[in-house]
Amino acid sequence: MEREKKDIKSLDMGELQNVVEALGEKKFRAKQLYQWMHVKLAGSYEEMTNLPKSFREKLREEYSYTCLEMVDRKISSIDGTEKYLFRLHDGNVIESVLMRYHHGNSVCISSQAGCRMGCRFCASTLGGLTRNLLPSEMLDQVYRIQKISGERVSNLVVMGTGEPLDNYDNLLIFLKLLTDENGLNISQRNITVSTCGIVEKIRALAEEKLQITLALSLHASSQEKRKELMPIAYKYEINDVLDACRYYFAQTGRRITFEYSLVGGVNDTDRDAAALTELISDINCHVNLIPVNPIKERDYVQSKKQVIEAFKNKLEKNGINVTIRREMGRDINGACGQLRKSYMEGNR
Ligand code: SAH
Repeated sequence: MEREKKDIKSLDMGELQNVVEALGEKKFRAKQLYQWMHVKLAGSYEEMTNLPKSFREKLREEYSYTCLEMVDRKISSIDGTEKYLFRLHDGNVIESVLMRYHHGNSVCISSQAGCRMGCRFCASTLGGLTRNLLPSEMLDQVYRIQKISGERVSNLVVMGTGEPLDNYDNLLIFLKLLTDENGLNISQRNITVSTCGIVEKIRALAEEKLQITLALSLHASSQEKRKELMPIAYKYEINDVLDACRYYFAQTGRRITFEYSLVGGVNDTDRDAAALTELISDINCHVNLIPVNPIKERDYVQSKKQVIEAFKNKLEKNGINVTIRREMGRDINGACGQLRKSYMEGNR
């Protein structure tokens, strides 16, 4: 069996310098190599034409080079949103999205192939978790999209398939590389990581003291209701999750985003709005209401427009910052994980 090669695009500059020296090359080659990978976004070793051929050969023998292969790209005729389907080296497929806003281009990446969190309304978790993504596989979603679209990516959200804090170590390496001044240099402040609420990892992330935004998928106004929608709530009490969010704010000074998917008749009543206020009113936060995107495997429905507005108004009256998430790319298989899923089911 062929020995598993090490993944070169997941290494930081220091590690790369060690690699270069171990291969008997001069130190400055590390910088060139890093630039090819993380600035010029090279698709293979062959493209790195200012590196000696013999060096490229040695690299190829010892290190795998991650470059995702685009297998589908759908562009919304409504708002220019683009959905990408990428194939990984082992045949797994993942989904990423490019969204165009006034303030710049934002990419939404997947952090895992599949997901094991089991949220009831989510399409990404229906097939379970296949595997974690490597740092390079998270990075390359951004790199390929920037290359293919020809446009600079300035913002990133980790809100695609997968639970980023269930792939914590790789996530951190990814974030360091993406925000590195020698790489694409995306500002930490332009990055959001969304989690279903893995308490000890939220606390660990807080201690990294990064300037990224934490988005917490709350989706319910009580522990009981949260359990109905999110199995992770059986593991972590809602109050402990919120305490971890308070801690995140205390450590980083970054306002928390709470995501709240409104599900018709389930979590969208006046009493829910009141209970939600009660839960979070002491937290420096912003609530993002997401009209649930119904999936065919479940019978959840969107709340009526007036109900969504009323929910928003009630929170606002209670002094809470709130927005309703604008739906992007409605015509191109909108909800998270749906493009990947329909591809895997063979009906593209
Ligand atoms: N695992 C991370 C990222 C998931 S996707 C997390 O749980 O936060 C990003 C957001 O979309 C989460 O808040 C998730 O709960 C929500 N979401 C997933 N499927 C949805 C759907 N069908 N309708 C509305 N929101 C959905």
